[in-house]
Formats: sequence, C-alpha cells, structure tokens
Amino acid sequence: MSKNFDLIIVGAGPAGSAAAFTAAKENISVLLLEEHPRIGVPVVCAEGLSRSTIKDYLDIKPEWISRKLSGSIIRGPDGDEFKVDFPECGWILNRKIFDPALANMAEARGAVIKTSARAINIENNEIIVNESGEKKKYKFKFLIGADGIASNVGRWMGINTRLNLNDIVVCAQYLIEGINIESHYTYLIIGEEYAPGGYAWIFPKSDNSANIGLGISPTKTKKKAKYFLDKWVKKEFANGKIVEKRFGGVPATILKRFSGKNFFLVGDAARFVNSLNGAGIACSIKSGIIAGNNAVLRLKGEKDYFEKEIKKEILKEIKFHYRIRKAYLKLTDKEYKEIFKIGKKVYGGKRIGHINMYHLVKEIVFSSPRLFYIGFSLLF
Ligand SMILES: Cc1cc2nc3c(=O)[nH]c(=O)nc-3n(C[C@H](O)[C@H](O)[C@H](O)COP(=O)(O)OP(=O)(O)OC[C@H]3O[C@@H](n4cnc5c(N)ncnc54)[C@H](O)[C@@H]3O)c2cc1C
Repeated sequence: MSKNFDLIIVGAGPAGSAAAFTAAKENISVLLLEEHPRIGVPVVCAEGLSRSTIKDYLDIKPEWISRKLSGSIIRGPDGDEFKVDFPECGWILNRKIFDPALANMAEARGAVIKTSARAINIENNEIIVNESGEKKKYKFKFLIGADGIASNVGRWMGINTRLNLNDIVVCAQYLIEGINIESHYTYLIIGEEYAPGGYAWIFPKSDNSANIGLGISPTKTKKKAKYFLDKWVKKEFANGKIVEKRFGGVPATILKRFSGKNFFLVGDAARFVNSLNGAGIACSIKSGIIAGNNAVLRLKGEKDYFEKEIKKEILKEIKFHYRIRKAYLKLTDKEYKEIFKIGKKVYGGKRIGHINMYHLVKEIVFSSPRLFYIGFSLLF
C-alpha cells in the first residue's frame, strides 16, 4: 500500500529542509526523506557561511553558530600572509545543530520527516524507499531532489548529472583540536604545494580547534587530497588531535536542466555551488526556499517562476565564479604568487565592509599580459 503526499523531498540537508519548511507552511502535505538516522550527521563541510550571501533568506540564530568571524588571513604560495578585517562578515556554523534545526522548522509547520529512509528508485509518481530495512512506497504529485552531490533523483528524472574530472573539487578535511590559531579569522591558502587547482582552509570552531582542509582539482594532480592534507597537517599541526576525518567533493559545473514537469532539483543535487570557493550552504537554502514556494504554485495549478528566480538569485553568480575557476585552473604557482601580491595590495591590512569580486578580478586581469590573456578569453 502506498501513502500519498502532495510534495516529497529527498534529502534533509539545508536545501531539502528549506524546501520543506517553505512548502509546509502553505497547507500542503510534505514528506521529507533522509537516509541517515540523524539529520546533520555526518556532513562533509567546513561550515563557513557569509552574511551577505544569506541575509535576505534566513535569520541565523546564535545557537547554530560555532564561531563569529571578523575577517580572513590569506596565505600565498611562499608562506607570506596578509590579514583583512571584515567585521561581522559571517559565521562558522555548527551543522550538527543547524541542519536538524532547519528540519525541525519544517516539522513544526506540519511536514512529515522520515530518517533512516533512503529513496532507492522512482516509478511513475511513486518513490520507493528503504525505511530501516523495509521497502515502502509513497506517491507524490510533485518531487524535489535535494539529495546532495551524489544525487540520484536527477538521474531518475532523466537529467544528466554526471560529473567529469573537470567538474569536481575533491576535498579532504580534519577537525583538529588543541591548535594555535587566530580563532575569529578564516585562513585561506593558495599554492600548488597546498592544494593544486584549489585552496586550503582553516575555519575556526573554537579558541583552539578548527576545520582544516583543502580542495584540489583532479585535473591538476594525480595525488589524492588526503595526501596534501596529511603533508600539511604533519608540518603545521603535528601537536593537534584529529577528532574527525571527512572526505567529499564539491560540484563545479552548471547543469543545462534542473527541473521538469513534476520536479525541481536544488542545492548540490542541482550543482548550485560557488565552485571557486566551494560555498554551497547559502545556495542550498536559497534554492530550497525558491523550490518550496514554486512547488506550491505548481501544486495549486498556478504559473511558477522557479527557473526565472533561480537564474536571478543563484545562476548569475555561480556562472561568474565558474568562469573564474576555469581561468584559475590554467594558472601556475608563479601566477598564484602574482595574484597573492595583488590581493595583498588591494586588501592587505585593510578593514572592509564588502568584497567586490568584479573589481578584484579586473585588478588581477590587468596586472600581467598572460593573466590578461587568460582572463579576457575566459571571462569576457
Ligand atoms: C569538504 C567540504 C567543505 C565544504 N565547506 C563549505 C563551507 O564552508 N561553506 C559552504 O557554504 N559550503 C561548503 N561546502 C559545500 C556544502 O557542504 C554543500 O554545498 C551543502 O551541504 C549542500 O547542501 P544540500 O542540502 O544540497 O546537500 P547535503 O548537505 O549534501 O544534503 C543532502 C542530504 O540528502 C541525503 N540523501 C542523499 N541521498 C539520499 C537518498 N537517496 N534518500 C534519502 N536521503 C538522501 C544525504 O544524507 C544528505 O543529508 C563544503 C563541501 C565540502 C565537500
């Protein structure tokens, strides 16, 4: 026997829960499925969220935060650093608390949440779920795929979500305790020694602990992300205690299609991530909210604006960052050093209120003939 829901959402990460709490308030029946027994465990994430990317969408509650941030320390390939003060720029979240809190908001508005419930297939308008070892079926009128980077929902609905080597940033991250850091600043580190084709990060979780990780492009090295992380941790954090190890990927591509007659894809499942810095939490929440609102319109038989709103609120920005990443992948360590110098000149020791990426990219592009060539051919 299958049960009926107006809307079924697969995946209770930020995207799925945001879709669920948005749609559930409109008096339609919502089922949110999560394969893990606990929402928010495990998540592969450095947990950074910038205020500017989320501000119109969600009020961040103090209990969801591990650390308030006051800026960044940027380190170049030579080990030279500069500091940028950016008061109230954002937070390091605690996703073990944040993710369940978003799901609780959906439940409080009437959504049904099932954990240990893995969607295993879709047949007609029915989703087949392995629920704690038992096979169950649920009928839906509308479906939202929020099942993260390894999304199956897109494939089941006929969308090519395959990621090639070019389309992924491969990441490794450890939560390390007992270390000495500037605990209200993120550290962002570039250079082939740390992270070929990507960057390394230290995101503080407390006075003496941090998410320390890196993302690399598999097109730039045959070595694994773990190799680079272990090498760095041994050199810089030998006295720290590794309490969690996480490995995962960030999608770095733009899908041609992310919706259909009776479904939307959101968050990582739709590849809505800033592929330059790996930030996907804000895009997940925004796309979840947009999908929740527009699924309700579809269910009411009204005209919806999903594609239009996604293009305006998400795609415009991630396409820009996607193009910068393509240019970034062409650079050598010598050029990373030049970029670091320009960053230092523009931002070093300054106190800022926002970052103008267009301005920074322009400064970089005009700083050398080769950077101009790469930038011009790929960006404009
Ligand atoms: C190492 C690393 C560091 C990162 N750091 C940051 C950062 O600092 N800031 C930032 O903004 N972004 C960061 N990201 C990206 C961010 O984690 C993701 O963009 C974000 O979690 C995407 O949210 P989502 O809801 O789309 O997917 P997810 O958070 O992946 O949630 C998907 C959910 O779907 C569930 N699921 C999957 N398949 C099924 C199924 N078949 N049935 C039922 N449930 C299913 C999963 O269990 C999961 O709970 C990082 C990513 C990586 C890999």
